Amino acid sequence: MAWNVLILGGGFGGLYAARKLERALPPHAAKVTVVNDVNFMLYTPLLPGAAAGTLEPRHVVVPLREHLDRTDLLLGHVNGADPDRKLVFVTTAEGAERTLSYDHLIVALGSISRALPIPGLREHAVGLKTLSDAIALRNQILQTLERAESVDAEAARRALLTYVFVGAGYAGLEGLAELQDFAADVVDLYPRSRMQGLRFILVEARERVMPEISADLAEFATAELRRRGVEVRTSTTVERISADSVELSDGELVPCRTVAWTAGVRPHPVVEKLGLPLDDAGRIVVDRFCQVEGRPVVWAVGDAAAVPDPARPGQPTPPTCQHALRQGRTVAGNVAAALGAGRPKPFTYKTLGVFVDMGRRKAVAETVGIKWRGFPAWFLARTYHLAMMPGLKRQLRLVVDWTVDLLFGRDASELGQLGHPPALETPGAGGADAAETVRR
Ligand SMILES: Cc1cc2nc3c(=O)[nH]c(=O)nc-3n(C[C@H](O)[C@H](O)[C@H](O)COP(=O)(O)OP(=O)(O)OC[C@H]3O[C@@H](n4cnc5c(N)ncnc54)[C@H](O)[C@@H]3O)c2cc1C
Repeated sequence: MAWNVLILGGGFGGLYAARKLERALPPHAAKVTVVNDVNFMLYTPLLPGAAAGTLEPRHVVVPLREHLDRTDLLLGHVNGADPDRKLVFVTTAEGAERTLSYDHLIVALGSISRALPIPGLREHAVGLKTLSDAIALRNQILQTLERAESVDAEAARRALLTYVFVGAGYAGLEGLAELQDFAADVVDLYPRSRMQGLRFILVEARERVMPEISADLAEFATAELRRRGVEVRTSTTVERISADSVELSDGELVPCRTVAWTAGVRPHPVVEKLGLPLDDAGRIVVDRFCQVEGRPVVWAVGDAAAVPDPARPGQPTPPTCQHALRQGRTVAGNVAAALGAGRPKPFTYKTLGVFVDMGRRKAVAETVGIKWRGFPAWFLARTYHLAMMPGLKRQLRLVVDWTVDLLFGRDASELGQLGHPPALETPGAGGADAAETVRR
């Protein structure tokens, strides 16, 4: 009888675990199933590029079925689990409640944006974690530019053209840099906005941006942002957010209509319903083989797991895709070993490099102790992501998008109505009720 291996989550950890299991186990030795709530893996390092319109959104995802040969994909939402009975509870895409059993379970459910108890945050801020976040931010920039053209009061126009990003990690820094670059490109099409000028603010609670990179590279990144006119406010927090302003800890009340919240992530909340041991940050406690404490047939990887970091004894690995995908491969090898194929191996990966793409053909990077900045770092970052994107077809799509962007610049159409067709006989330009689009 074939073994039953269940993988929860088809992101970096889950997809790479499934692909490795396909190679590590003899055909028909196991039935491997990935449960994921969408039918693709989001290649997050390229999300800011999709937000800024440099990349077509469909080109920053990897369709799971194209990359899984002998693995079943079940589209559905994981609701919980009972590890004593080796059961997982899922609502399928069709809405059916299903109970799945397993011989081995790999949890790779990732993380969500971490919201702090700041008044107005949940109501008025947008994250930069999902594809819909990225597209919403791009649309928001275009909508505010459009609205600023029709507003006569200067103060109202200024608020529309002010964009506050909170959190200067990967997502915040890259997201702000790419979106500011995008806005600076398209503002030429908006005469009143161009006269008014755009204001971008990056708020960071710590003393410096990007703790993931060395201090001098972080300084370079900060200087580059300031050169572009971005206000970088370190050692500052957001106290309150409303529909038309943000209050900062230094007392300034910034009139603005756009707040992007990129201040960290936390494990997906469903992780709490799996009956597994969690650490203080809510991550599943595993050993260096990614095996869950006290559960020999349950494994966890990626942002949802506290895998001991070989590079920083006593601490878990940081939430990055380079760790998640390698943990996926490690755990697959260990599950295969538990099923009689090969020997178990601990997770030993130490970060080889970090890239922070800052748009405008500039980046900062640190690879095996060598520091890069400016154009060489940008070229290195693009080459790295091109190499890491699974599949030649998708790699070529990236090259085409990047080339088109270099040659023709960016597109300023706001297609927020995509995927939301109006009801039959609803009036309105372009398929959407124009007034409704502007109000959003
Ligand atoms: C904007 C941004 C930029 C980033 N840039 C970098 C970078 O440059 N370099 C780097 O190393 N890291 C980067 N990261 C971090 C990286 O994306 C994560 O660390 C990585 O994706 C974690 O992999 P994972 O497998 O744990 O989770 P994910 O890749 O998030 O996969 C989890 C999967 O589980 C699915 N899922 C979640 N809940 C359920 C449920 N209840 N039921 C079914 N399916 C579910 C999700 O849809 C997803 O497909 C970035 C992150 C962001 C947001």
